[in-house]
Amino acid sequence: MPLGPAGLLIMLTREIASLTDCRQGYLVRINEQGIADNGRNGVLQSPGRWPEGAIALGYWHQVPVAVVVEQGSESWPPARDWLGRLDEPSFALVSTALQVARWARDHRFCGRCGTAMKRRRGEFAMECPECGHRSYPRISPCIITLVTHGRELLLARSPRFPSGRFSTLAGFIEPGESAEEAVRREVFEEVGVCVGRISYFRSQSWPMPHSFMMGYYAEASSRELEIDGVEIEAADWFLPEQLPGLPPSYSISRHLIDNFLHSTAGFQG
Ligand SMILES: [Zn+2]
Repeated sequence: MPLGPAGLLIMLTREIASLTDCRQGYLVRINEQGIADNGRNGVLQSPGRWPEGAIALGYWHQVPVAVVVEQGSESWPPARDWLGRLDEPSFALVSTALQVARWARDHRFCGRCGTAMKRRRGEFAMECPECGHRSYPRISPCIITLVTHGRELLLARSPRFPSGRFSTLAGFIEPGESAEEAVRREVFEEVGVCVGRISYFRSQSWPMPHSFMMGYYAEASSRELEIDGVEIEAADWFLPEQLPGLPPSYSISRHLIDNFLHSTAGFQG
């Protein structure tokens, strides 16, 4: 069995070229409200023949798996709820299903000439039969960064957060920009702090709707905060002993924070 970066078994393998003519296997059912429960608190419907419009995603434990978008208004649990309670391999499956489903829905017509697009066999690609333009699932790279100063963590809250929660800073990478440049720009724009050394941590796919979060640590070279008041409504330096409410455990934001706390524990300065 293939192993992932953290040594975890990879349950989802993505050999979609081999699934071109496959019409059966597991199925993930999605609608505008959320993702269907299989009756056993999971998202995988028992293996069977796939309905019209199902899109193969890969193999789940060597069994083909597809996603289908349904029109009904049944109130299935929201995707965000699922992401909050799934284990890491299932998170990858749901993340893939959500992003592929959105791509298929949002690229039905050519963005260049308006002709109806056709799916290319064996890959996640839509092609315009008129002008040849191709569209692939959109992935939007973002940086997410924990700014530190000695043992202190710079955490901020957005007006969208639940009451009392603070988190790391994040933002989209702009065209033409490197991830490291985006870290420096976002931190300065949002809280007015300059950062010195930057180091890469790890990444996480975040399918709400198609972000790719690249996690970094950034060491502050200035401490004074100047909050933008729009994306950020409050920010402060926190000691490990005096942390506010933190983001949920499955988020890369929380992984950045927990890993920093773990690595500085025992270095009481
Ligand atoms: Zn076209």
